Amino acid sequence: MADFSTDVRYIKGIGEQRAKVLQKLGIANLRDLISYFPRTYEDRRAYKRIADLVAGESACVRAVVADEPRLSHVRKGLDLVKLRVVDESAALDLTYFNQAYLKNTFHTGEEYVFYGRAEGTLLRKQMTNPLFERAGENRVTGRIVPIYPLTAGVSQTLLSHAVRQGLDACADDLTDFLPEDVRQAHRLCHVRYAYENVHFPADEEALAVARRRLVFEELFLLTLGLRLLRERRAAVAGQRCENTDLAPFYAALPFALTRAQKRAIEDCARDMASGRPMNRLVQGDVGSGKTMVAAAAVWFAAQSGLQSALMAPTEILAEQHYHTLAPLLEGLGVRCALLTAATKAKARREVLEQLQSGALTLAIGTHALLSPDVQYQKLGLVVTDEQHRFGVDQRASLGAKGDDPHLLVMSATPIPRTLALMIYGDLDVSLIDELPPGRQKIDTFAVNSSYHARIYAFLRKLVAEGRQAYVVCPMVTENDTSDVRFADERKAVTAYAETLQKEVFPDLRVAPIHGKMKPKEKDAVMRAFSEGDVDILVSTTVIEVGVDVPNAAVMLIENAECFGLSQLHQLRGRVGRGAHKSYCVLISDNAGEENRQRLAVMTRTNDGFAIAEEDLKLRGPGDFFGSRQHGLPSLRVADLSCDMALMHDSRAAAERLLAADGALAAHGALRSRVAELFELGAGAMN
Ligand code: ADP
Ligand code: MG
Repeated sequence: MADFSTDVRYIKGIGEQRAKVLQKLGIANLRDLISYFPRTYEDRRAYKRIADLVAGESACVRAVVADEPRLSHVRKGLDLVKLRVVDESAALDLTYFNQAYLKNTFHTGEEYVFYGRAEGTLLRKQMTNPLFERAGENRVTGRIVPIYPLTAGVSQTLLSHAVRQGLDACADDLTDFLPEDVRQAHRLCHVRYAYENVHFPADEEALAVARRRLVFEELFLLTLGLRLLRERRAAVAGQRCENTDLAPFYAALPFALTRAQKRAIEDCARDMASGRPMNRLVQGDVGSGKTMVAAAAVWFAAQSGLQSALMAPTEILAEQHYHTLAPLLEGLGVRCALLTAATKAKARREVLEQLQSGALTLAIGTHALLSPDVQYQKLGLVVTDEQHRFGVDQRASLGAKGDDPHLLVMSATPIPRTLALMIYGDLDVSLIDELPPGRQKIDTFAVNSSYHARIYAFLRKLVAEGRQAYVVCPMVTENDTSDVRFADERKAVTAYAETLQKEVFPDLRVAPIHGKMKPKEKDAVMRAFSEGDVDILVSTTVIEVGVDVPNAAVMLIENAECFGLSQLHQLRGRVGRGAHKSYCVLISDNAGEENRQRLAVMTRTNDGFAIAEEDLKLRGPGDFFGSRQHGLPSLRVADLSCDMALMHDSRAAAERLLAADGALAAHGALRSRVAELFELGAGAMN
C-alpha cells in the first residue's frame, strides 16, 4: 500500500527517467506529487455543435471520424495528419502537426470528444491539434482541467495522470490534521475533498472551497511554525551583553538621533542584555535611519567582546554600509571589514583569519557571511538589512552559527500589520515611525510618455542646478508578457542609457547600471554616481534597496505599471535623502483604471505604510506572497489565492490553539507537519 512517502517512481507510467525529471519540479514522493498544485485551470466544459463553433473560441465537440486520416509528409520535420469529423450539424476538419502516429489512432466511425480553438470560416470549420479522448472518458475534455507548471520532459497529461494516481493511492493517508473544531468553526472542507478538487475540480464552487481550505491550512501552519520557532529561540540561552551606557555612541554621531531611532536602539540594548537571544525586526520607512540602529547594536555587542556580521542583500549595499559604518565605528574602536565576492583572495584570507582570531569585530557583506568557511571567534550579533530576503529557514538555522547570536533584522518594506504578524511572527518589532528632521516631501507626478520631452527638460534644469537623477529604464519584455522577471535587463538598460546619452543629453554624463554587471563594474558606476561624476544613472531595480546618494533629486520611473506600489515607494525613497527638494516622476501609458488608481496613491502620499495598505487593498496579499521575497517556507496555495479575511482567521485560529495547547501535545499529527515544514530538528519542538 502506498503512502505519502512512496517514491513517485512506483506510479504507473513514471519510471526512473521521468522520476528524475519530476525531481526538477520538487516532486520526489507522493506527498510532493499531490501537493504540486495547478498554476491555473482551463474550463473545458462547454460543448458545442460543430455548426455553432465560433472562430477564435475554444470548445468541446463530440464527433465521429468521417473518413480515414491522411498523412502527408510536407518536408523534413513537417508531417501533417488530416481528418474530417462530423456531428449531426456539420463537418470539422482537423489537422495535427508532427504526430504521424495519429494516422493509425483514428478510425472511421469512432466517436471522440475534441477540444480546441475553432478556426476557419462559417462553411469550413477547422481545428489544429485539438486534444481528444474517447467520448465519455472525461479526463481532458468536458471538465475543468488543471494546468500545471511544467518543465522540459513533463507534459500536462503526464502530470495530471500521475496526480490522479497519486491521489487514489494515498486517499487513506489523507487524514485531516486540522483540529475538527477549527474546521467546523471556519467551515473548511475535509482535506481529501480539498486535494481532490484543487486538482480536479467538480465545478468552480468546489474549487473555491478546496482552495480556501488549503490556503487556510497553509497560513495556519505558518503561524504555528513561526510561533514555535520563536519559542524555541526564546528558550535557549543568549549571550548576555553588559548593559553599557549608550552615551559614548550617541556622542560620536554627526547628528542627534530621532526619538524613534533611540527607542529602537534601547529595545535592542534591552534584548541583548537580557540573557536571551534577541529576535528583533526594526521596521522603518526608507530614509528613517535604520542603519544607525544597526550601528548601535554592533557597538553594544562590541562592548561585551562580541563580533557582529551585517548582511545586505546586494554587494552595492554591503559596500555602502561599509563606507557609512566603518568611519563611525572604527572611531569608536570597532574594527570593521568588508567581505564580498569582489574581495581579492589575499584580502579575503586576511579578513577570514582576523575574524577567526577576533581581531575584527564587524564583518559587512552579503549572505555569504554565514557560510561555513567564515569562522568567527565569538559571533554575538547578526544584522540583516532588508529582512524579506532573509528567509525563515535562514533565521531558523542561525543558532548553528556560534552560540545563538542575537538577531536584528531591518526592513524598509512597510508591511501592514496583519501581514507583518504573519511573516514576522517569530520576531519582536521596533517601529521607526519618524523621519530625521528636515526631510521634504517628494513631489510625485504620474504622466504618460507624451510628457517625455518636458520631463527631460526638467531633468536638465535640475542637473544644471547641480543635482543628479535616477532613471529606472523601461522594461523590454520577451514572450509578450509584462512579467518583469523575463526582462533582459542588460539589454534594456544599456540601450536606454545609450539613447539618452546620444539623443537627449549629449552634454551630460549618463551611465548605465544593472544586475548583470560584475560587482566591480557596478561598484565603479555606483561610486562615480555617489561622488557626483555621473549626472544621470540609468538602472533597473538594482538601486531599489538602500542606496544613499543625498544629492540625487529626481527619480524617473518608466513603465511604472510594471511595479508594485511598495516597490515604487522603495524606488522613490532613493531621492529626498538630502536637503534638496526632490521629485519622482512615474511614466505609464497604461490608461487602465486600476493602474491610474495605483499611481494616484503614489502622488497622494509619501507614507510607506499607507501605500502598503492601499497596495494590499488593490491587489490582495496573494500578490505579496507570490513575489517570493518574503522568505517564508514556500507557500503553495496562498500564492495563488488568498484574502485578508482568511489570513486573519487562520492566524487567530492558530493563536487560539496555541493558547490552549502551547506545545501541540494533543495534536500530534499537526505538530509533526509543522516540524516537517519548518525543517525543525527533532529536539526543536520540545
Ligand atoms: P534607511 O532607514 O533607509 O536605511 P539610512 O540609515 O540609510 O536609512 O539613513 C538615511 C540617511 O539619513 C542617511 O544619510 C543617514 O546618515 C541620515 N540620518 C540617519 N539618521 C539621521 C538623523 N537622526 N538625523 C539626520 N540624518 C540622519
Ligand atoms: Mg537602509
